[in-house]
Amino acid sequence: MINVKIVILGAGSVGKSAITIQYVNGEFIDYYDPTIEDMYRKVIEINNEHYMLEIMDTAGTENFLVMRDLYIRNGQGFFMVYSITAKSTFYELEAIKDQISRIKDTNTCNIPMVIIGNKCDLEKDRQVKSSEGEELVKKWGGNIDFLETSAKDNTNISIAFEQLVKQIISKSPKQPTT
Ligand code: GDP
Ligand code: MG
Repeated sequence: MINVKIVILGAGSVGKSAITIQYVNGEFIDYYDPTIEDMYRKVIEINNEHYMLEIMDTAGTENFLVMRDLYIRNGQGFFMVYSITAKSTFYELEAIKDQISRIKDTNTCNIPMVIIGNKCDLEKDRQVKSSEGEELVKKWGGNIDFLETSAKDNTNISIAFEQLVKQIISKSPKQPTT
């Protein structure tokens, strides 16, 4: 089994924990302590190969910036989550992307990454257009993915994880053939 380390990043209250728990436990949680950071495991099968996902659900605790450095250093793939109902959370992704680029010392399109616009069930409260998410992908370098999800309705959640793992597989250096 191949281990894959995934980190879920984004502003507070965008649904990082709800996405994680929907994916791992198959349920939507209405309330989850915003200060809890935890690691979850789930096995995924892609092309007849099993991968053990280690999913780090991050939170904005006081020493968060220091911790975030550590999570990014160890992470192989990143979810960049905003809420389609809060424009400020969309703008916050830029600083997180810069932090990842700095720590990984490479530009974004080489880093496995999926931009997620969560809470797409709340169409009536939408502040960020789908086209804005698509533009951000282009701006960062087309080699990453963008999806709108709903942790509440379980829309596009497992697809998002599959896309990220596939990026990790294709972007990691190939094993030498002996
Ligand atoms: P986090 O701080 O990023 O971990 O955010 P949470 O997962 O704790 O979610 C914050 C709030 O948004 C909670 O009340 C969730 O129930 C709610 N929430 C999360 N995802 C969704 C979603 O896809 N749709 C809706 N309607 N609410 C959501
Ligand atoms: Mg949380």
